[in-house]
Amino acid sequence: MNVLVLNVGSSSLKFQLVRTDDDRLLNNTDERLAKGMVERVGGEAIYTYQPSVGGPQRGSIPLPDHRSTLGHLLTWLTSDDSGAVLGSIGEIDAVGHRVVHGGELFKKSVLITPDVQRGIENNIDLAPLHNPANLRGIAAAREVLGAGVPQVAVFDTAFHQTLPPQAYLYAIPYQLYRRHSVRRYGFHGTSHRYVAARWRKLTERSREETNIITLHLGNGCSACAIAAGDSVDTSMGFTPLEGLVMGTRSGDLDPALLEHVAVKEGLSQREMSTLLNKHSGLLGISGLTNDMRELLQEADENDDRRARLAIEVFCYRARKYIGSYLAAMGGAQAIVFTGGIGENSARIRTGICDGLQWMGMTLDETRNHYCTDGREGIISAEGSRLDAWVIPTDEELLIARDCYRVVTGTPTPF
Ligand code: AMP
Repeated sequence: MNVLVLNVGSSSLKFQLVRTDDDRLLNNTDERLAKGMVERVGGEAIYTYQPSVGGPQRGSIPLPDHRSTLGHLLTWLTSDDSGAVLGSIGEIDAVGHRVVHGGELFKKSVLITPDVQRGIENNIDLAPLHNPANLRGIAAAREVLGAGVPQVAVFDTAFHQTLPPQAYLYAIPYQLYRRHSVRRYGFHGTSHRYVAARWRKLTERSREETNIITLHLGNGCSACAIAAGDSVDTSMGFTPLEGLVMGTRSGDLDPALLEHVAVKEGLSQREMSTLLNKHSGLLGISGLTNDMRELLQEADENDDRRARLAIEVFCYRARKYIGSYLAAMGGAQAIVFTGGIGENSARIRTGICDGLQWMGMTLDETRNHYCTDGREGIISAEGSRLDAWVIPTDEELLIARDCYRVVTGTPTPF
């Protein structure tokens, strides 16, 4: 089955075309036929298309909306420019959409029906920037490909719907949960679920034997406690602002500082939100950049004090989450690192694990340095009581596989 995976933002569209089926799924041999992205949809759009062979193709063209953007992409997929990845657009069997917020309504991936579309609409309040864009992507795909091509929604929040109330409730008046759905939802669910499933496969464990802590460390960062295969706690909360230190997001803080800073600095609510989402995290502490690679370079080459501080706060917060999740879960078998930082930086992984030796966790630095640039594997030493792994995430692949399973009625693990 050829699945077009779409991740539609307000002015962007990312895609992958994946070929998958039962055999490919079982043997991990799904094929990536093409991928790419279009930015600045709504004006002079910039596209980067990557066929399966050859280098990326870049260009710009006016694309007023997501419908015309999808049209442009499909024309490329069937053209000589892409090496005619597809003979015709009729070869697209299904479309899988990344949908950000499923609220409490969606606990797994679903076939998109008018009811499901209404459900996504009903959650707009919870993700006012993302869900409307996702809905525009769904409408555009229906218009361009026709109602006969099944579409599947894969939610960022769905994996965390197994959180127990003690983990998802905030200690604020309960009516706020009842009236306004204020609770922890968690995000990055597709990534946590993918690496957990991959870890199971690599270690040949059953779902029930899967007790791990997954750390997705990219520009956005989140931790997830997975017990008996289920997400039982996660660091992102009502929004993706809570939890770990991120590129530009603060993560956890004392809510009382909001009023204090707003008054002192004369900032509005909106400006405070921008401060915490866009000017905080690694960027806020270092005053330099939100990019971990650049920070490490600054710390090394210029011995920049604030770059070092940002890195230390980042690692310390992640280590605290590991400790708290170990307590919450009553122990775990492994920590799994993923995301741009988690997959590539042996230094940061060491920084996070440094201090966990007391509970029997030792990294093998040769393994740790080997597992970068997409290489997966175990990085803890022989005999370490808690294992550590690096597993590159692949959200698009999981979306394609979910799409295949939903459309064919194959049961979905996790
Ligand atoms: P992502 O959002 O998953 O693409 O991750 C982006 C983050 O990964 C940025 O902070 C990058 O600087 C970081 N990153 C990518 N490669 C490396 C690397 N080799 N060392 C440290 N950080 C890296």
